[in-house]
Amino acid sequence: MSKRDYRKRFFRRKFREVSRFLPMTAVIFLSAFIIGGSIYLINDFYSYYLAPAVSSGPETPPEHLFFSDEGADPTEETAEPLTGVDAVIYDADRLAAGYDYDAAIQLLSQSEYAADPKAAEAIAGYEATKSTLVRADISEVTHVFFHTLIMDTSKAFDGDSRQDGYNQMMTTKDEFLRILQSMYERGYVLVRIHDMAHEEIDENGNAVFVEGDIMLPEGKKPFVMSQDDVCYYEYMEGDGFASRLVIGEDGKPTCEMDLEDGTTVTGSYDLIPLLEDFIQEHPDFSYKGARAIIAFTGYNGVMGYRTDAAYEGVNPNLEQDRETVRQLAQCLRDNGWELASHSWGHRNLGAITYEEFVTDTDKWEDQVESLIGPTDIILYPFGAEIGDWHPYTMDNERFAYLHEKGFRYFCNVDSRQYWVQLGEDHMRQGRRNLDGYRMYYDLPESGPVKTYLEDLMDVEEVFDRSRPVPVPPMSQSS
Ligand SMILES: [Zn+2]
Repeated sequence: MSKRDYRKRFFRRKFREVSRFLPMTAVIFLSAFIIGGSIYLINDFYSYYLAPAVSSGPETPPEHLFFSDEGADPTEETAEPLTGVDAVIYDADRLAAGYDYDAAIQLLSQSEYAADPKAAEAIAGYEATKSTLVRADISEVTHVFFHTLIMDTSKAFDGDSRQDGYNQMMTTKDEFLRILQSMYERGYVLVRIHDMAHEEIDENGNAVFVEGDIMLPEGKKPFVMSQDDVCYYEYMEGDGFASRLVIGEDGKPTCEMDLEDGTTVTGSYDLIPLLEDFIQEHPDFSYKGARAIIAFTGYNGVMGYRTDAAYEGVNPNLEQDRETVRQLAQCLRDNGWELASHSWGHRNLGAITYEEFVTDTDKWEDQVESLIGPTDIILYPFGAEIGDWHPYTMDNERFAYLHEKGFRYFCNVDSRQYWVQLGEDHMRQGRRNLDGYRMYYDLPESGPVKTYLEDLMDVEEVFDRSRPVPVPPMSQSS
């Protein structure tokens, strides 16, 4: 529960406590009016409203109580004081909301309140729901992706040379929030790519890829989300984007944004904290704590820090920034995010020479993986493949090299709803760009009606009208 939520509930509870005494207060007030007469009342009016306030103890409701939570419904179910068995049930409910019924049951059954009838009732409820779950078909898991989100459209779309690129490839904050809301309402649930399939060692000691068991209530639809180029490239400065990732006071990853006047603000200025906020409000949008895949290149910034070897002697805070990236990577992993390679130099890995391919892959390992830790996911820059549609084999020397470096999940870009392929030793998935280009050309007004996105959203509702139109056409998305 967020602090804001907690405050809201706290005040609602207070409201109810106060409400209970209101009839009695009215009676006393009326009696005072009749008995004391008007002179008394005028004096009282004066002393009550104009005299300095005197606290009558910690239970005195704040003066703004009745205005602090407009629209609050006192009959709405709210959190009771979180103590004893209720506190543990609250935490268990939170786990169950994220479909982790086993963890919820375990938490209660291993707590000191295991024998409490309330705990038994909660456990029975989780067991009942768990028995109704349906195993997801992993061939029907869609994967959507974004770039850095535009926070200030007036700066991104200010007519400079980068405007068209942003208009094509980026998504605005408002669009992103509308997409989340739409997908949530349609029953989508965020899962990890590692939930779809994973490597296991079989009885002969061989590594094999096996389908995962994603267990969801009937009607819920698992999906994967990723974000590319979480680098905050130098060229983006001043164009209305966040400037870097930081660890917030609550220990969760958040953003900093450098403003024109030289000040820096901290807050939800990109996908990571915005998605985190959304899941705090809607825990049933995330399967067992899943978050998105966050992908980086290395050459011009990782999470907004210039850590590459090329910045030696250039960035005076190089070592400090490298340490910050290490800590941020751990923070992301601890909070459910998956980290991925987007190549070191944003190269077309299918088109460059094999020597260039090896150099780039080694640089990723030396310059980025050394900071953020092992990564087994690669999201191809430009969506450019290293093979055709057949499952990869070791005959493909680029696949063999990436596999040797530990990569097991390979993602291209594909506009189809589902593109999932399980190989013997890897998994591939197509990703759908939910950017200005895709959304604009899905609008009825832009020509032939396309329906690439209709399973996810009503594009007319989502599309940000502060974009310059027409969005320039392009052939690929990075
Ligand atoms: Zn990219």
